[in-house]
Amino acid sequence: MWRAATILNVGYRSTNYWVISAGSSRLLVDLGWPGTMGTMRANLERMGVPLDEIKYGLATHYHIDHAGLAQELKQAGVPLLVLEAQVTAIPLVKSWTKPADRFVDITTHDNVTISFSESRAALSRIGIGGEILHTPGHSDDSVSLLLDDGSVFTGDLTPPPLIGEDEPGAAATASWRLLRGRGATRIYPGHGPAVPMKPEPKD
Ligand SMILES: [Zn+2]
Repeated sequence: MWRAATILNVGYRSTNYWVISAGSSRLLVDLGWPGTMGTMRANLERMGVPLDEIKYGLATHYHIDHAGLAQELKQAGVPLLVLEAQVTAIPLVKSWTKPADRFVDITTHDNVTISFSESRAALSRIGIGGEILHTPGHSDDSVSLLLDDGSVFTGDLTPPPLIGEDEPGAAATASWRLLRGRGATRIYPGHGPAVPMKPEPKD
């Protein structure tokens, strides 16, 4: 039986950065805007999260508000957990930044790259019961962290009322169905407050 994980938000600039803690073993979900390492450090300190207790950083997807500090966190000693479906998205982040953003490019040879089926074991090694699932829709590289208590961290997975009648929309609908089927009960999104998971909309 896992000890219940605790969840903190160290976010800023309208973006949530979630710290999941099993005692002093922690996982940071989503990794800051480019050029904001000072703000991230200050928020972690204010919330009582020592940087050296963060065992992995995980970006739900490689957009600048979710992965902007991935490299600087690595340089500060936080290994980057990457899912195989995300590998090709990493080099593209740089193309969405301007020099003034002070984005530090993310190297790809020194990450902890795993498959989705390996995610439960990787999380259990840091004391967290859960798995990481592929949840495309907002982007092809989008993943969600689903804890065994039903908490799910969905990044920018499109909320059901905003899903369009297009291919990304179909992918997003399938992703929500997957999460619901795996027992998700409470959504911790990349932006906005945590909300209960609604039953599947009837159509
Ligand atoms: Zn995004």
